[in-house]
Amino acid sequence: MQKSIFFFSILILAFITPFAVNAEVKEVSAMAKDIHWLGHDTFKITGEKIIIYTDPFRIKKKDTADIILITHEHYDHCSPEDVAKLQGPDTAIITTSDCAKKLSGNIKTVKPGDKITIAGVGIEAVPAYNTNKQFHTKDKGWVGYIFSVKGQRIYLAGDTDYIPEMKTFKADIALLPVSGTYVMTAGEAVKAALDIKPKLAIPMHYASIVGTKDDARQFAEGLKGKVEVEILKEE
Ligand code: ZN
Ligand code: ZN
Repeated sequence: MQKSIFFFSILILAFITPFAVNAEVKEVSAMAKDIHWLGHDTFKITGEKIIIYTDPFRIKKKDTADIILITHEHYDHCSPEDVAKLQGPDTAIITTSDCAKKLSGNIKTVKPGDKITIAGVGIEAVPAYNTNKQFHTKDKGWVGYIFSVKGQRIYLAGDTDYIPEMKTFKADIALLPVSGTYVMTAGEAVKAALDIKPKLAIPMHYASIVGTKDDARQFAEGLKGKVEVEILKEE
């Protein structure tokens, strides 16, 4: 009797699980539709009633952001002229103190470890630094962000190498640099993605200042069968 219940449960599970997994994959690819890559580390991410931009750089279309996340003060991430193209009277800008000095308006400064909620969006600042080069040293206090949109945790890595903290990051979608030179190489970004285990990884920080589409392809190749990768078309 008990045995038959056991086998019956297994049968039900075997039937249900593929649908559950499928639903999750669908949910993630639906989320990816709300993520627009505008080149380099610039993304426009739309929630239900919210528009978030990350590291605005070489913005072609004027828009009004609810939230702008900026990871550090380098010119290709903290660009006052590009922020101006997206900034309205209510736009909240979250950034590090060195970048904040170049901007004005509603600014919240953060350092690694800080957690804030802006317009209903939970935002955590996480460490971002180099381990084998000197462009982004840990003492600068520069950041990446993990923030929630439509129930998905999105990790924007910023300019970082593959760092041990990544093992503790929980994210559904990971936006990772792949260009090498100032940040992780594609191969290192593969290791990062394997640590973070997101449902979806999206390469960034290539085809603009440094790095090429080959880096993005190499990243996707390295994660084949392990982590879903989507190489977004630049909009
Ligand atoms: Zn940088
Ligand atoms: Zn950079």
